[in-house]
Amino acid sequence: QDTDMSDLAIASRAVLAPISRIAEAAGIPDAALEPYGKYKAKIDPALLPSGTQRGKVVLVSGMSPTPAGEGKSTMVVGLADALAATGTKTMIALREPSVGPSFGMKGGATGGGQSQVLPMDEINLHFTGDFHAITSANNLLMAMLDNHLQQGNALGIDPRSITFKRVLDMNDRALRHVVIGLGGTANGVPRETGFEITAASEVMAVFCLATGLADLRARLGRITVGYTYAKAPVTADDLGAAGAMALLLKEAIKPNLVQSIGGTPALIHGGPFANIAHGCNSAIATNTARALADVVVTEAGFGTDLGAEKFMDIKARYAGCPPDTVVIVATVRALKMHGSVPKEELGTENVEAVRAGLPNLERHASIIAKFGIKPVIGINRFTTDTDAELEAVTSWAEQQGIACAVADVWGHGGAGATELAATVLRAIEEPGNFAPLYELEQPVEDKILALVREIYGGEGVEYSAKARRMLQQINGNGWSHLPVCIAKTQYSFSDDPQLLGAASGFTVQVRELIPKTGAGFIVAITGALTTMPGLPKVPAAVHMDVDEQGNAIGLS
Ligand code: ADP
Repeated sequence: QDTDMSDLAIASRAVLAPISRIAEAAGIPDAALEPYGKYKAKIDPALLPSGTQRGKVVLVSGMSPTPAGEGKSTMVVGLADALAATGTKTMIALREPSVGPSFGMKGGATGGGQSQVLPMDEINLHFTGDFHAITSANNLLMAMLDNHLQQGNALGIDPRSITFKRVLDMNDRALRHVVIGLGGTANGVPRETGFEITAASEVMAVFCLATGLADLRARLGRITVGYTYAKAPVTADDLGAAGAMALLLKEAIKPNLVQSIGGTPALIHGGPFANIAHGCNSAIATNTARALADVVVTEAGFGTDLGAEKFMDIKARYAGCPPDTVVIVATVRALKMHGSVPKEELGTENVEAVRAGLPNLERHASIIAKFGIKPVIGINRFTTDTDAELEAVTSWAEQQGIACAVADVWGHGGAGATELAATVLRAIEEPGNFAPLYELEQPVEDKILALVREIYGGEGVEYSAKARRMLQQINGNGWSHLPVCIAKTQYSFSDDPQLLGAASGFTVQVRELIPKTGAGFIVAITGALTTMPGLPKVPAAVHMDVDEQGNAIGLS
């Protein structure tokens, strides 16, 4: 067990198979494979053998996390390796990491320890350039919009009501609020705007929900960029931009194939945030993996209240890929945190605190049950966990009748998840009874109330005056049939990050309602939210370098 080695050191010691070999084992014909170097390739789904194969979907979600993350991606990879080891044809589907946060605090998103997807450094950096293409498509739309203002503004767009922004894949707080078009008449129409990070952009959400090129083109065209002086919405199609945007994305939209340390094929594609967007890899990658494998292990960001709920109510609805089971990743340290242990003491044995944190996990299990799915709890074992602490969780789960297994995927890869894999295989054999939480025809306020009461355990919803105005606009424009994507803190079931455990009886404050008519959802903003993160006082970037052979140093 390499407990002292960094993720990067473990990844760089791994021996990779050529990507053509991984593709062959996954049943991908040569014609559909577009290698990007030795260990990465794009797959053209149109050139895969047509068939009716639809693999089962195992969605990995989590309990309310600590700021360090509870190891969902790590669990996806380890569990998939363990499933593959049973002889089950398995594929991984994960999000592409955003570059910006890798240089800040969060680190990469390729798993950890013995459960990683490779080549770790390339996936975490530019990979196959998809984020660049998405950034370009987004910024082409903005360039065409500002040019429209410059060339006489035939559509009568009110520059003060433009909602769409330029994006960049960088944590750069200084770009949150900017004035553009300075320098006189030849240099554009001055207006106030800002930048968002690419992962938070609507083009990213569109990219990840599109089921094919035609759907991508149609969704891009429906993006609302702002409003006219007469308050009518203006779309990317009105500006004539959507065709060129789709053209810029025609290669990026093909899923990327890589491998895990255990040699399991992985499609890594698209990477939207789980607050402002729905937080899972592209629909195309999930469905391509289902066409190739019997079981697809995939992830949704943050806890079941955020990522998993959005997977069921947004992604599964649009892409037709409801999960057959949901693995809720739990950790002893997160349970202790919800049991009121201060951060500095999370590594010390405290069985009582673990028990005191269980109501948080119980609520997550009940959320999954609301969708007609039986959850499996996967305890991600850390070296500091004691047997007594782990036993406190497993015996509780047994009493509750919830399937549960401890996994040490970080220390042992697939070999650490044998029991969890067997538990998951049993769970997916049971006939599912999936249904989304709400009907699309329900009014927007009813959908939000259903989420607050049924999923978060709260009492009611209060709308700011601004949110009320936006709601009127949404109803007036005929957008009320869209699903709702709630932007909320991941630390609590409520909109207050300090309310740990299984908070109840609270009221959620909706500050804004933003229609994302291309992606096809309405974002309800609760609490503080930034769509352009900043760097911390000491960014991770200051510890990074590259040696003379081109090896990465300090990536985590
Ligand atoms: P999430 O997907 O939930 O954000 P990740 O899988 O990215 O979490 O893991 C976050 C970090 O925690 C990674 O650096 C990973 O190496 C580390 N990690 C995950 N599981 C373990 C474990 N069992 N022991 C030690 N470190 C772990």
